[in-house]
Amino acid sequence: MRSLEYSKGKSLDDKTRKKRCPECDSNDLSLIHYGYINDPDAMQQIESGEIEADGCCVSDESPKWKCRDCGEQFGKINWS
Ligand SMILES: [Zn+2]
Repeated sequence: MRSLEYSKGKSLDDKTRKKRCPECDSNDLSLIHYGYINDPDAMQQIESGEIEADGCCVSDESPKWKCRDCGEQFGKINWS
């Protein structure tokens, strides 16, 4: 039982761990979307602020997240 509780707790911890802004510790973050957007669902999310549209230019240094409180951009896009 002990090992079961351990693995259960571990996966729960991974799922509930939320990204936070390194600047202001806010968890009100937008995922930055790169490239051309023609998905109506994505367009809706951009309008509502859930996704940040940031043009088509993306590099290895492009941030993945944008803080909606202070505007800080951070994180790395995972290309794998
Ligand atoms: Zn912030």
